[in-house]
Amino acid sequence: MTNLDLLGRVAYEAYLQMTGGRSLILGDKLPNWEDQRPDIREAWRAVADAVVMMANIRYERLQNVASEFVDNDACRYDHNDYCQTHYGQKPCHMARLRKLIENE
Ligand SMILES: [Zn+2]
Repeated sequence: MTNLDLLGRVAYEAYLQMTGGRSLILGDKLPNWEDQRPDIREAWRAVADAVVMMANIRYERLQNVASEFVDNDACRYDHNDYCQTHYGQKPCHMARLRKLIENE
């Protein structure tokens, strides 16, 4: 199962959960993901792909803003796991921002 297939399934199953497992158009009981028609599964994959694309655009915007606030100074944690460089508990906010920018 590809990641897009999984995301399409998650979207479809969210629809099923929201509608009580029925089509909102015809009212018919809908099959589970494996038994759904291939063209309909493909349509749900496209839905998931569009949502992921929008989420990635927002994530990139967040990364760009975050990169303006990140420094390259090493974190130095004391015996209480408090960063003496950036004044935050481990992992300090600067370490978390670096990970966000590096997409980890
Ligand atoms: Zn730090």
